[in-house]
Amino acid sequence: MIIGVDFDNTLVCYDQLFHKVALEQGLIPADLPQNKSEVRNYLRKIGREDDWTEMQGVVYGARLNEAEAFPGARQFLRLASAIGTEVRIVSHKTRQPYRGEPYDLHAAARGWLKRYCVISSMGLKEEDAFFELTKADKLARIGACGCTHFIDDLPEFLAEPDFPSTTRKVLFDPNELYPDSADYLRCTSWEKIRESLLDLK
Ligand SMILES: [Mg+2]
Repeated sequence: MIIGVDFDNTLVCYDQLFHKVALEQGLIPADLPQNKSEVRNYLRKIGREDDWTEMQGVVYGARLNEAEAFPGARQFLRLASAIGTEVRIVSHKTRQPYRGEPYDLHAAARGWLKRYCVISSMGLKEEDAFFELTKADKLARIGACGCTHFIDDLPEFLAEPDFPSTTRKVLFDPNELYPDSADYLRCTSWEKIRESLLDLK
């Protein structure tokens, strides 16, 4: 078993951080729910799309280390390592943001993996994390890694025609936005993923 894991919004949760940064910049009311989609939708509604785009660069770059892992994600990785299940991180993102300061987003993501001890103390090595530049490269990488399972927060990514046919699809759906499907295993928490993939009963 080799379990592939997406990075943004699957391993890393940005809900609180987008809210915090938007509040600091005076862009949202404090009582807006602490949820990335709520912040995005609010900024779009008030015509601040460019601020939203620039904020993504800040959150995924300069401020990334303030983002937390989803509850249960690090425990999952620790358990996988303990029982000898291999894990790969496979993500795609541009090298620099579309707007704003030219942060190195790949370096920021690798820094996060080290800061949250995913690399080293949870059994992952530097070479087990892949940050690709395109969706096509991410799909190819999942296949090249021989992932038996892949966990991602986007059903449209799992539905890509070039998704490796032998890789089992796991949809991480913490906000319960999507229906069940015969095409993927839908899990609403990392605890559920652990029960499904690692509790070998
Ligand atoms: Mg994602």
